[in-house]
Amino acid sequence: MEALWAANSLDKADALLQQIDSASSPLTLQHFSQNTFSAADESAKHIDSFEPKTGRCIARIPCASAADVDAAVKSAKAAFPAWSKTPRAERSRLLRRVSDIIAENRELFAVWESIDQGKTLERARIEVDRAISNFSYFSTFILHESTSSRMVDGVALTYEHRSPAGVFALISPWNMPLYLLTWKIAPCLAFGCTAVAKPSEVTSMSAFLLAAVFRQAGLPDSVINILFGDGAVTGSALVAHPAVHGVSFTGGTATGIAIRRATVHQIYKHLSLELGGKNPTLVFADALTTSPASRAKTIRTAAMAAFENQGEICLCGSRIYVEQSVYDEFVAAFTEYVTAHYRTGETVGAVVSLQHYAKIRGYLETAQHRGMTFQTGSVPPVIDAGETGKGYWIEPTVLTDVPATGPGSELLREEIFGPVVTIVPFADEDEAVGFANDSEYGLAAVLLTNDGGRMRRVGEQLDAGLVWVNCWLVRELGTPFGGMKNSGTGREGGEYSRDVFTVARTVHLATVEW
Ligand code: NDP
Repeated sequence: MEALWAANSLDKADALLQQIDSASSPLTLQHFSQNTFSAADESAKHIDSFEPKTGRCIARIPCASAADVDAAVKSAKAAFPAWSKTPRAERSRLLRRVSDIIAENRELFAVWESIDQGKTLERARIEVDRAISNFSYFSTFILHESTSSRMVDGVALTYEHRSPAGVFALISPWNMPLYLLTWKIAPCLAFGCTAVAKPSEVTSMSAFLLAAVFRQAGLPDSVINILFGDGAVTGSALVAHPAVHGVSFTGGTATGIAIRRATVHQIYKHLSLELGGKNPTLVFADALTTSPASRAKTIRTAAMAAFENQGEICLCGSRIYVEQSVYDEFVAAFTEYVTAHYRTGETVGAVVSLQHYAKIRGYLETAQHRGMTFQTGSVPPVIDAGETGKGYWIEPTVLTDVPATGPGSELLREEIFGPVVTIVPFADEDEAVGFANDSEYGLAAVLLTNDGGRMRRVGEQLDAGLVWVNCWLVRELGTPFGGMKNSGTGREGGEYSRDVFTVARTVHLATVEW
């Protein structure tokens, strides 16, 4: 851990990785429970973790067994009574300290997040800043909470009393590892719950560093435990554990369904499921024709929504619909902008894994076979599992002439989760809304128009938990975050997170002789 902690620049990290490589003793992560790092038994299953930009193996991830999960959940359960009664001011102080330590080591986290996930260093810095905000926001939120009270016609005073719900399973995906894990851990601990967290096996490095922060900050033993491992063994054992009172999960819809199934007989379990998306971006003609500045902003926003973090953000707008009258003009200008600003290896990172590379490549191969037009981008080469030193690079790809039905239409329906965007024309407002809502998902939508009436008229009809009008990815941490349809169940953020991590009871105090 010391060597890792000292490697806070790309050069130092690279030197460390080369040293590890030549010593043939790979960096092996350790589970964090009872405030202690412990090496997994060598006989335990380990998974190799690869650097997306080079394809080299950078770490070994231990897979926690069902017995490891049981022990960590029991520790979290034992820590719950004291932590749930710890005064808010003290919980707030400790979480503020966590936020400060991450901030002091911002570059360390950004460097390893970039190496581990494939994202650019610049993008990683933005996400570390958001992780810092997650802790600072919830550390102060709990100091300013209010609850409701009501009178029952002079008979009784009622008030809402909140208690921490218990032990939580916090499970996060690989696309924004630190940011999404802290988006769960911060409110969970702030509201007085304890937790066992499991990051994605593909991107576990920042969670390992985060565990060291919890130790430095002086969090009491077992309030937060971090186990590494895969979904099949570690994740499943964790969500189904009877002593776990709630699951906050971010990941794919299929996994969300598996978690629902696994917990169907545990009615007491709070489930917050943030799942996949296939988000539309609607471009109305006026956004291009009002002024050159509006035109430039429209193209920039649509491109950013499509290609930030190589399209590996659940909120990316991967289906662009453009009003027919400006369709050709938009396609040409958008493609020119993307080619100039989204350059692989500079402003666009590598996709997260070889498996994910092959999945995205498969969609692009379909696009080619079905005669779709590649305005920019192409089908990337096949990479064999044994090939190292190449990295998982996919050029930003803009596709037109995508069929609305039949073979090939899956590119409009399924979540590709990579640097691939489709552009389709629409005739009028009704058709635009119809196209946008023609999806099993309902996570986010982007609306680009200068017509004030349309902003609300269309914005309020979109099946999306988050609608951005003339902007994208703007977040205020108190607003409800979550999706409609198959994009999820529940909302998180501010008091919505409180609903996830606490239980409410209504206390009735008689105000008259009863
Ligand atoms: P997965 O659903 O494959 O995995 C998410 C997490 O769940 C991982 O830690 C995974 O472990 C774990 N897991 C897998 N199977 C189980 C199981 N049966 N029980 C418990 N845990 C399990 O998603 P990805 O990691 O591939 O992430 C990409 C997905 O996440 C996309 O669909 C994307 O849209 C979605 N996402 C949604 C967001 C939102 O806010 N709505 C935000 C970001 C991403 P392991 O990987 O180790 O197997």
